[in-house]
Amino acid sequence: MFLTDSIMELKGVGEQTIKKFNKIGIETIEDLVEHYPREYEDRRQIAKISETVMDEDNNIVATVTSKPEIMKKGYKIIVKFRVKDETGSIYIVFYGQPYMKNNFVVGDTYNFYGKIRRQYGRIEMESPEYEKLEQGTSQKTAKIIPIYPTTQKLSQKVIRQLIEQALSLALPEIEDPLPEDFRTKYDLKSKNFALTNIHFPSQDEAFFEARKRLVFEELFFLQLSLFVLKSDFLARTKGRSKKLPESFKDFLAGLPFEFTGAQKRVMNEIAKDLKSEYAGNRLVQGDVGSGKTVIAAASLFIAIKNGYQGALMAPTEVLAKQHFEFLEQVFNQFDIKVALLTGSTTAKEKRGILAELATGEIDLVVGTHALIEDNVEIPKLGLVITDEQHRFGVRQRLKLSEKGETPDVIVMTATPIPRTLALILYGDMDISIIDELPPGRQPIKTNAVDSSYHARIYQFIDKHIREGRQCYIICPMVEENEKQSELKSVTEYAAYLKEQVFPHFEIGILHGKMKPKEKNKVMEAFAKGEIHILVSTTVVEVGVNVPNATVMMIENAERFGLAQLHQLRGRVGRGKHQSYCVLVSDSKNKVTKKRLKIMEESTDGFVIADTDLKLRGPGDFFGTKQHGLPEMKIANLYTDAKVLKVAQQAASELLRQDPDLSHPLHQGLKEKLLDYTDGEQMHKAL
Ligand code: ADP
Ligand code: MG
Repeated sequence: MFLTDSIMELKGVGEQTIKKFNKIGIETIEDLVEHYPREYEDRRQIAKISETVMDEDNNIVATVTSKPEIMKKGYKIIVKFRVKDETGSIYIVFYGQPYMKNNFVVGDTYNFYGKIRRQYGRIEMESPEYEKLEQGTSQKTAKIIPIYPTTQKLSQKVIRQLIEQALSLALPEIEDPLPEDFRTKYDLKSKNFALTNIHFPSQDEAFFEARKRLVFEELFFLQLSLFVLKSDFLARTKGRSKKLPESFKDFLAGLPFEFTGAQKRVMNEIAKDLKSEYAGNRLVQGDVGSGKTVIAAASLFIAIKNGYQGALMAPTEVLAKQHFEFLEQVFNQFDIKVALLTGSTTAKEKRGILAELATGEIDLVVGTHALIEDNVEIPKLGLVITDEQHRFGVRQRLKLSEKGETPDVIVMTATPIPRTLALILYGDMDISIIDELPPGRQPIKTNAVDSSYHARIYQFIDKHIREGRQCYIICPMVEENEKQSELKSVTEYAAYLKEQVFPHFEIGILHGKMKPKEKNKVMEAFAKGEIHILVSTTVVEVGVNVPNATVMMIENAERFGLAQLHQLRGRVGRGKHQSYCVLVSDSKNKVTKKRLKIMEESTDGFVIADTDLKLRGPGDFFGTKQHGLPEMKIANLYTDAKVLKVAQQAASELLRQDPDLSHPLHQGLKEKLLDYTDGEQMHKAL
């Protein structure tokens, strides 16, 4: 039996069944064994008959005590018999399957799994799944049962049995594409083990190991194919080596805090990039508030002290300004000249900055899109950082890099969104993950409520402001063509609050229609604590850092995506005070309620993004179709980001050692790679 054989080769598969399998994309044995369970049912617990629960699925072990009889009930033919265990007895009933009569023998013991109901005063289990137990083996059959993606026409039992058959026939033929040394190195189980245990896990641990292996393999081959297709990968551009300067210690010592473990690790990874003679290209992913800015600062410090210029690009003026102020302050004592260049920089200022950038007098320029304009020359540009990178296109990022000669590149993001994923998937970037928040942060307490809670929320806000804190109130997101009403809703809402609710507090307004200068002024006043309540649209969504703000209230929360709610919520909880997020929504929609519930339950960006995806359905969310990337069978690009990273390193390392995969031990691997990508292009590349 070969993996490429048709499922027709299996026993007990008729034409009809084959058609049904074909409908769900299964034609070969390989398709079948790679049809992974969607979930599992834990049937390791066996219920006593006396403990079974009415109208639910129950898992029992019982002995047949009466001969199966065929009866007619109306139009239906039923097969019925009695079974018992030491606590009681029930009837087993099969509808419309007269042949069942011959499958059960009095005195034999079976594992039955099915729904139990009361019918005419008798307790019955309806058309259960069953398995005969050999004498004394009852314990062994208690199992974790796979549940497969399917159509209604194809029963779980049929799929399960065929997969079992396929595995037993095909496993001996399967050659592991990953060589043994390689598996040892990355702590991966064999393919046989993985396939067996992904379908029929013997225990939890085995399942996790099996899944890990399969996820790794899938992501590894994806990365490998992307690397190979990107023919210039191995001829990676040479950059210039930047070593850790003596003064780096002083820089670290000058910071108001110590790096977290995750920050240290990521910093080491970046330092390696900088030191290498190859130009680094790294994605730094870290949840909101994980402390990415200071990583940017430290990286820029290294580059600049090696005699290079640095550039930091942010998506909004507010954010650029905030970064500028932070960097100016931490670089102040190190003789590093920092400039801010945005759309609202005056023409005169701009001329000065451009001139000083061109001569190299300015060491670091922070700014918005204004940085990529043609007349901006940064001749000694050695490190380019883009913050909240998902707001930029790939081309914009490249355009900034091209101002220098093969600078190192770092992009930072809190939201794992399609374009970022595409970047990861294209394999041209290394990934670092800051998976730890600075110490002392209390998780933000989140509540989803309806608008009947307004009075209480206002009181809550009042109390916190009196204690010295500040608050954001986010107004409904509005459609493009409703710009006018966006403006109105923010200003009107703010006016209402000022007149009716908080006459004693300073209230500020922020919305997309304001000029950048006005926005900056408001943000500055808020950062200084002169404004108590900031009523805003989502313009505060990205990156804004005011640690004293502790309450975030979001009106019409149902109008926002979960990732966006998460970003917005990330504006609070950035300091030492307990922070709160109140999501207000009157929506009765079930999915909406579920989504808001997730916000109450999780503060982990990856979990939230992933659940969002599940609730929305996969669709074209990752943009994989338009990028021509294959669908993932088992890996989840969000939750398996860490494995993706290891797989990426493994792929890159392998290609360094054996660029055309000619080593005898790599033949299985090469074959699978060619197979995976349908060959032609890959043949040329290898
Ligand atoms: P983000 O990753 O969302 O961009 P920021 O860089 O804005 O996060 O950092 C959020 C807050 O955490 C800032 O106030 C910053 O000063 C602070 N911070 C960053 N790193 C640490 C650390 N290691 N210890 C304590 N506070 C930190
Ligand atoms: Mg940030």
